[in-house]
Amino acid sequence: MLQVIAIPILQDNYIWLIRQAEHNKVIAVDPGTSQELLRYLTEHNLQLSHLLITHQHGDHIDGLDELKKHWPDAEVLVPALPFHGEKLKGTACRGGEIFNVMAEVALHVIAVPGHTLNHVAYLLSANNQFVLCCGDTLFSAGCGRLFEGTAEQMFDSLQKINALPEETILCPTHEYTVANLNFARVVEPDNLAIVKQLEKAKALRIQGLPTLPVTLAEERSYNPFLRCDNAELQQRWQQENALNLFSFLRNWKNNF
Ligand SMILES: [Zn+2]
Repeated sequence: MLQVIAIPILQDNYIWLIRQAEHNKVIAVDPGTSQELLRYLTEHNLQLSHLLITHQHGDHIDGLDELKKHWPDAEVLVPALPFHGEKLKGTACRGGEIFNVMAEVALHVIAVPGHTLNHVAYLLSANNQFVLCCGDTLFSAGCGRLFEGTAEQMFDSLQKINALPEETILCPTHEYTVANLNFARVVEPDNLAIVKQLEKAKALRIQGLPTLPVTLAEERSYNPFLRCDNAELQQRWQQENALNLFSFLRNWKNNF
């Protein structure tokens, strides 16, 4: 049984911790800072076994050096492709790799270029349970900005995520849910799943709680970027196919 824990850092980031029930080793994803994670590990008597990096933006890696000092034996997985000529130290991942991490937990690396060209996602699976750490590729009700890749690359990356089992638990790095749902509501005013999810997300945020993680099944019902193959939606926004609609929505969202 995999447990997923969100540690809020910076303005709206999460470091995700994945832990096997009854084990004291944990995997941490995208450490933009180190202090909050170190405190959590000490308080809960946990050991850091792996650090996974989805891409090389500062808010995903700035805690790495400090964490490596405290946990020199933790294995670090990083994107293989260099970022502005720089490479991170660690096991280089291009997508397609499979590792065994913790007891009976498999980790699949998936290449998801778009937000950056080197972006990878990490799929953890154990006993038919799936957890995807997707960085800045998919957000709840949204998707990452295209800093380096093309709309087509990001569209293909989202298709890969959308092809996973519907019960997959998604762990994006940012808490953008309410703003994304406000956009989704304008894109698809008649979709009741959006209205319901917006109410739920607002109630959680008022209590200071994360709206994440979410399941792929939930996201399929209200995330416009996963709904581009919907013929009605293509017609409403006069786009010929799913890729055109995706491109149109991504551009629109940049200025929303
Ligand atoms: Zn980023």
